[in-house]
Amino acid sequence: MESILEIKDLGKNFGGFTALSGVNLAIRQGERLGLIGPNGSGKTTLINCISGALRNDHGQIQFKGESISHLPAHTRTKRGIARSFQLPRPFRSMTVAENLMVPLAYVGGVSGSKARKQALEILAEMGLADKADTSSASLSQVELRKMELARAMAAKPQLLISDEAMAGLSGSEVDDVLDILIKLNKSGITIIMIEHIMHAVMRFSERLVCLDAGQIICDGDPQTVVANPQVHRAYLGD
Ligand code: ADP
Ligand code: MG
Repeated sequence: MESILEIKDLGKNFGGFTALSGVNLAIRQGERLGLIGPNGSGKTTLINCISGALRNDHGQIQFKGESISHLPAHTRTKRGIARSFQLPRPFRSMTVAENLMVPLAYVGGVSGSKARKQALEILAEMGLADKADTSSASLSQVELRKMELARAMAAKPQLLISDEAMAGLSGSEVDDVLDILIKLNKSGITIIMIEHIMHAVMRFSERLVCLDAGQIICDGDPQTVVANPQVHRAYLGD
Protein backbone atom coordinates (compact mmCIF):
# COMPACT_ATOMS: atom_id res chain seq x y z
CA MET A 1 0.00 0.00 0.00
CA GLU A 2 1.28 3.45 -0.94
CA SER A 3 2.07 5.91 1.88
CA ILE A 4 0.65 9.41 1.59
CA LEU A 5 2.64 10.56 4.62
CA GLU A 6 5.96 9.24 5.86
CA ILE A 7 7.54 10.46 9.06
CA LYS A 8 11.07 9.34 9.85
CA ASP A 9 12.92 9.79 13.14
CA LEU A 10 11.00 12.96 13.93
CA GLY A 11 12.17 15.09 16.85
CA LYS A 12 10.94 18.36 18.31
CA ASN A 13 12.36 20.24 21.33
CA PHE A 14 11.10 23.27 23.18
CA GLY A 15 14.22 24.72 24.76
CA GLY A 16 15.64 21.84 26.77
CA PHE A 17 12.38 19.90 26.74
CA THR A 18 11.99 17.01 24.29
CA ALA A 19 8.39 17.04 23.07
CA LEU A 20 8.91 14.40 20.35
CA SER A 21 11.74 11.99 19.66
CA GLY A 22 12.34 9.12 17.26
CA VAL A 23 8.82 9.19 15.84
CA ASN A 24 8.42 6.92 12.81
CA LEU A 25 5.04 6.73 11.18
CA ALA A 26 3.83 5.87 7.69
CA ILE A 27 0.21 6.51 6.81
CA ARG A 28 -1.27 4.94 3.73
CA GLN A 29 -3.51 6.68 1.24
CA GLY A 30 -7.13 6.46 2.38
CA GLU A 31 -6.35 5.31 5.93
CA ARG A 32 -8.29 6.28 9.07
CA LEU A 33 -5.69 6.61 11.80
CA GLY A 34 -6.52 7.29 15.44
CA LEU A 35 -3.89 9.04 17.57
CA ILE A 36 -4.20 8.70 21.34
CA GLY A 37 -2.01 9.39 24.34
CA PRO A 38 -2.10 11.23 27.64
CA ASN A 39 -2.24 15.03 27.82
CA GLY A 40 1.18 16.43 27.08
CA SER A 41 2.35 13.33 25.20
CA GLY A 42 2.99 15.31 22.00
CA LYS A 43 -0.09 14.66 19.85
CA THR A 44 -0.71 18.31 18.94
CA THR A 45 3.02 18.94 18.54
CA LEU A 46 3.16 16.04 16.05
CA ILE A 47 0.35 17.45 13.95
CA ASN A 48 1.85 20.93 14.23
CA CYS A 49 5.04 19.49 12.73
CA ILE A 50 3.04 17.77 9.97
CA SER A 51 0.95 20.85 9.13
CA GLY A 52 3.92 23.22 9.37
CA ALA A 53 2.74 25.27 12.35
CA LEU A 54 6.03 24.11 13.89
CA ARG A 55 9.31 23.06 12.28
CA ASN A 56 10.71 19.72 13.39
CA ASP A 57 14.25 19.76 14.79
CA HIS A 58 15.16 16.25 13.67
CA GLY A 59 14.04 13.81 11.04
CA GLN A 60 12.03 13.98 7.86
CA ILE A 61 8.42 14.36 6.81
CA GLN A 62 7.42 13.28 3.32
CA PHE A 63 4.01 13.95 1.82
CA LYS A 64 3.14 12.21 -1.44
CA GLY A 65 6.79 11.22 -1.81
CA GLU A 66 8.26 14.72 -1.38
CA SER A 67 9.98 16.22 1.62
CA ILE A 68 7.86 18.94 3.20
CA SER A 69 9.80 19.58 6.44
CA HIS A 70 11.22 22.85 5.12
CA LEU A 71 7.92 24.21 3.76
CA PRO A 72 5.81 26.86 5.51
CA ALA A 73 2.32 25.91 6.68
CA HIS A 74 0.48 27.68 3.86
CA THR A 75 2.46 25.80 1.24
CA ARG A 76 1.68 22.50 2.96
CA THR A 77 -2.01 23.46 2.94
CA LYS A 78 -1.80 24.04 -0.81
CA ARG A 79 -0.12 20.65 -1.23
CA GLY A 80 -3.10 18.98 0.44
CA ILE A 81 -2.70 18.94 4.23
CA ALA A 82 -5.48 20.54 6.28
CA ARG A 83 -6.18 20.43 9.99
CA SER A 84 -8.75 21.54 12.48
CA PHE A 85 -7.59 23.18 15.69
CA GLN A 86 -8.06 21.85 19.21
CA LEU A 87 -9.30 25.33 20.11
CA PRO A 88 -11.47 26.53 17.21
CA ARG A 89 -10.29 29.76 15.59
CA PRO A 90 -13.13 31.08 13.46
CA PHE A 91 -13.17 34.53 11.92
CA ARG A 92 -15.81 35.66 14.37
CA SER A 93 -16.86 38.76 12.50
CA MET A 94 -17.70 36.70 9.40
CA THR A 95 -20.65 34.50 8.53
CA VAL A 96 -20.20 30.75 8.34
CA ALA A 97 -20.07 30.76 4.53
CA GLU A 98 -17.55 33.63 4.52
CA ASN A 99 -15.33 31.62 6.88
CA LEU A 100 -15.10 28.96 4.17
CA MET A 101 -14.64 31.44 1.35
CA VAL A 102 -11.29 32.50 2.83
CA PRO A 103 -9.57 29.12 2.29
CA LEU A 104 -11.52 28.59 -0.95
CA ALA A 105 -10.01 31.80 -2.32
CA TYR A 106 -6.57 31.24 -0.86
CA VAL A 107 -6.07 27.60 -1.72
CA GLY A 108 -8.40 27.07 -4.68
CA GLY A 109 -8.29 30.54 -6.19
CA VAL A 110 -12.10 30.67 -6.39
CA SER A 111 -14.07 33.71 -5.34
CA GLY A 112 -17.47 35.37 -5.67
CA SER A 113 -20.51 33.28 -6.52
CA LYS A 114 -18.41 30.25 -7.42
CA ALA A 115 -16.80 30.26 -3.97
CA ARG A 116 -20.16 30.73 -2.30
CA LYS A 117 -21.59 27.77 -4.21
CA GLN A 118 -18.67 25.58 -3.13
CA ALA A 119 -18.97 26.80 0.46
CA LEU A 120 -22.65 25.87 0.49
CA GLU A 121 -21.85 22.39 -0.87
CA ILE A 122 -19.29 21.78 1.87
CA LEU A 123 -21.64 23.12 4.55
CA ALA A 124 -24.40 20.83 3.28
CA GLU A 125 -22.06 17.85 3.73
CA MET A 126 -21.58 18.92 7.35
CA GLY A 127 -25.28 19.46 7.97
CA LEU A 128 -24.67 23.20 8.32
CA ALA A 129 -26.37 24.46 5.15
CA ASP A 130 -28.98 26.41 7.12
CA LYS A 131 -26.22 28.25 9.03
CA ALA A 132 -24.45 29.64 5.94
CA ASP A 133 -25.46 33.23 6.56
CA THR A 134 -25.31 33.10 10.34
CA SER A 135 -22.54 34.92 12.16
CA SER A 136 -19.92 32.38 13.22
CA ALA A 137 -19.86 34.04 16.65
CA SER A 138 -23.39 32.75 17.33
CA LEU A 139 -22.72 29.06 16.61
CA SER A 140 -23.16 26.36 19.24
CA GLN A 141 -20.16 24.25 20.24
CA VAL A 142 -21.01 21.38 17.88
CA GLU A 143 -21.73 23.78 15.03
CA LEU A 144 -18.39 25.48 15.64
CA ARG A 145 -16.61 22.12 15.54
CA LYS A 146 -18.34 21.26 12.28
CA MET A 147 -17.45 24.66 10.83
CA GLU A 148 -13.82 24.01 11.74
CA LEU A 149 -13.95 20.78 9.75
CA ALA A 150 -15.77 22.56 6.92
CA ARG A 151 -13.04 25.21 6.81
CA ALA A 152 -10.41 22.50 6.64
CA MET A 153 -12.37 20.85 3.80
CA ALA A 154 -12.54 24.15 1.94
CA ALA A 155 -8.78 23.77 1.45
CA LYS A 156 -9.58 20.59 -0.57
CA PRO A 157 -7.20 18.39 1.41
CA GLN A 158 -6.02 14.88 0.68
CA LEU A 159 -4.93 14.54 4.31
CA LEU A 160 -7.22 15.89 7.04
CA ILE A 161 -6.06 16.07 10.64
CA SER A 162 -8.69 16.47 13.32
CA ASP A 163 -7.42 17.59 16.74
CA GLU A 164 -9.98 16.74 19.42
CA ALA A 165 -12.94 17.85 17.29
CA MET A 166 -15.31 16.07 19.68
CA ALA A 167 -14.11 17.52 22.97
CA GLY A 168 -16.99 18.89 25.03
CA LEU A 169 -19.74 17.45 22.80
CA SER A 170 -22.69 15.33 23.92
CA GLY A 171 -22.99 11.65 22.95
CA SER A 172 -25.22 12.23 19.94
CA GLU A 173 -23.10 15.19 18.81
CA VAL A 174 -20.00 12.99 18.98
CA ASP A 175 -21.72 10.43 16.75
CA ASP A 176 -22.74 13.19 14.37
CA VAL A 177 -19.16 14.50 13.96
CA LEU A 178 -17.85 10.95 13.73
CA ASP A 179 -20.29 10.16 10.91
CA ILE A 180 -19.03 13.23 9.04
CA LEU A 181 -15.39 12.18 9.41
CA ILE A 182 -16.17 8.65 8.22
CA LYS A 183 -18.12 10.02 5.25
CA LEU A 184 -15.20 12.30 4.31
CA ASN A 185 -12.83 9.34 4.54
CA LYS A 186 -15.10 7.27 2.28
CA SER A 187 -14.92 10.07 -0.28
CA GLY A 188 -11.17 9.40 -0.44
CA ILE A 189 -9.59 11.62 2.21
CA THR A 190 -6.92 10.20 4.49
CA ILE A 191 -7.69 11.18 8.09
CA ILE A 192 -5.68 11.39 11.29
CA MET A 193 -8.00 11.79 14.27
CA ILE A 194 -6.74 12.81 17.70
CA GLU A 195 -9.39 12.01 20.26
CA HIS A 196 -9.91 11.06 23.89
CA ILE A 197 -13.43 9.66 23.57
CA MET A 198 -12.51 6.00 23.31
CA HIS A 199 -15.73 4.63 21.82
CA ALA A 200 -15.40 7.21 19.04
CA VAL A 201 -11.72 6.34 18.59
CA MET A 202 -12.58 2.64 18.34
CA ARG A 203 -15.43 3.16 15.87
CA PHE A 204 -13.33 5.44 13.70
CA SER A 205 -9.87 3.92 13.62
CA GLU A 206 -8.62 1.29 11.22
CA ARG A 207 -5.29 1.64 12.98
CA LEU A 208 -4.35 3.17 16.30
CA VAL A 209 -1.14 4.85 17.43
CA CYS A 210 -0.42 5.71 21.05
CA LEU A 211 2.07 8.41 22.01
CA ASP A 212 3.59 8.74 25.45
CA ALA A 213 6.21 11.31 26.46
CA GLY A 214 6.92 12.16 22.82
CA GLN A 215 7.42 8.61 21.57
CA ILE A 216 5.19 6.07 19.87
CA ILE A 217 4.68 3.27 22.36
CA CYS A 218 2.22 1.21 20.32
CA ASP A 219 1.08 1.14 16.68
CA GLY A 220 -1.30 -1.41 15.26
CA ASP A 221 -4.85 -2.60 14.95
CA PRO A 222 -7.07 -0.84 17.50
CA GLN A 223 -8.03 -3.94 19.51
CA THR A 224 -4.39 -4.92 19.93
CA VAL A 225 -3.33 -1.39 20.90
CA VAL A 226 -5.99 -0.97 23.60
CA ALA A 227 -5.09 -4.37 25.00
CA ASN A 228 -1.41 -3.45 25.24
CA PRO A 229 -0.17 -3.22 28.87
CA GLN A 230 2.09 -0.23 28.14
CA VAL A 231 -0.86 1.67 26.64
CA HIS A 232 -2.90 0.84 29.74
CA ARG A 233 -0.22 2.12 32.05
CA ALA A 234 0.38 5.30 30.06
CA TYR A 235 -3.12 6.22 29.03
CA LEU A 236 -6.07 4.02 29.77
CA GLY A 237 -5.42 4.26 33.46
CA ASP A 238 -4.56 1.12 35.34
P1 ADP B 1 -0.88 16.77 23.64
O1 ADP B 1 -1.49 17.36 22.42
O2 ADP B 1 -0.58 15.31 23.50
O3 ADP B 1 -1.68 17.04 24.88
P2 ADP B 1 1.22 18.72 23.19
O4 ADP B 1 1.79 18.32 21.89
O5 ADP B 1 0.30 19.87 23.21
O6 ADP B 1 0.52 17.45 23.89
O7 ADP B 1 2.39 19.03 24.21
C1 ADP B 1 3.47 18.15 24.41
C2 ADP B 1 4.42 18.77 25.39
O8 ADP B 1 5.11 19.86 24.78
C3 ADP B 1 3.76 19.33 26.63
O9 ADP B 1 4.61 19.09 27.74
C4 ADP B 1 3.65 20.80 26.33
O10 ADP B 1 3.67 21.56 27.52
C5 ADP B 1 4.90 21.05 25.50
N1 ADP B 1 4.68 22.13 24.53
C6 ADP B 1 3.79 22.13 23.51
N2 ADP B 1 3.89 23.26 22.79
C7 ADP B 1 4.86 24.01 23.37
C8 ADP B 1 5.44 25.28 23.11
N3 ADP B 1 5.04 26.02 22.07
N4 ADP B 1 6.44 25.72 23.92
C9 ADP B 1 6.86 24.98 24.97
N5 ADP B 1 6.37 23.76 25.28
C10 ADP B 1 5.38 23.27 24.50
MG1 MG C 1 -3.32 18.41 22.12
